[in-house]
Amino acid sequence: MPGRERWGIFGGTFDPPHIGHLVAAQAVRYELDLDRVLFVVANLPWQKAGDGSITPSHHRFGMVDAILSGVEGLEACDIEVLRGGDSYMADTLAELEAPDRDLFLVLGSDAAQGLPTWNRPDEVRRCAEIAVVGRPGSAHLAPPHGWTWRVVECPLLDLSSTELRARFAKGAPVEFLVPDAVIEYVNHHDLYRQAD
Ligand code: ATP
Ligand code: MG
Repeated sequence: MPGRERWGIFGGTFDPPHIGHLVAAQAVRYELDLDRVLFVVANLPWQKAGDGSITPSHHRFGMVDAILSGVEGLEACDIEVLRGGDSYMADTLAELEAPDRDLFLVLGSDAAQGLPTWNRPDEVRRCAEIAVVGRPGSAHLAPPHGWTWRVVECPLLDLSSTELRARFAKGAPVEFLVPDAVIEYVNHHDLYRQAD
């Protein structure tokens, strides 16, 4: 009889996706022996609403999809883009949950600190185990009160989408920080012309 499926759920804005995301996802897939890690592209990341303009979700999904097509075990997931509106991980986990499947919510340590502020945090906690990868600046922070998670070993990469948007806007080098498919997509669609 086949064993239970083990899926990693890696949510994000991915504006743009970068090697920090990819290295983290691969590390968690390896360490937790996951069948697949889904990159769940947020349609409207409501907690970032005041942070400047966010690239339309079809473009952010397009970049993730361009990177991951043909990569074994890492997959672009458009469930939140198709649902539309504000994106809540509680809804996504409820849709992906299945009797023969274990879900692992993958988070960088900065995002993990914010879990109590999410929409319906109790449902998030009920549906998935939490796997946290370190991020420079918040790598060793303890879980918020009432939360538990497992920390997954992963190379620390001091890189963010915010930094990359600024680099694209001023024409600074981005090679090796994002896959070539992202550079091609950004150039083709004229994204990130202005700094935030
Ligand atoms: P922004 O600067 O726009 O917030 P970001 O680089 O933080 O972008 P997000 O889309 O906000 O990327 O993050 C999605 C998920 O990826 C979060 O859980 C975040 O903690 C994690 N993450 C992002 N960058 C890294 C990194 N360099 N190392 C580990 N985890 C990361
Ligand atoms: Mg972020």
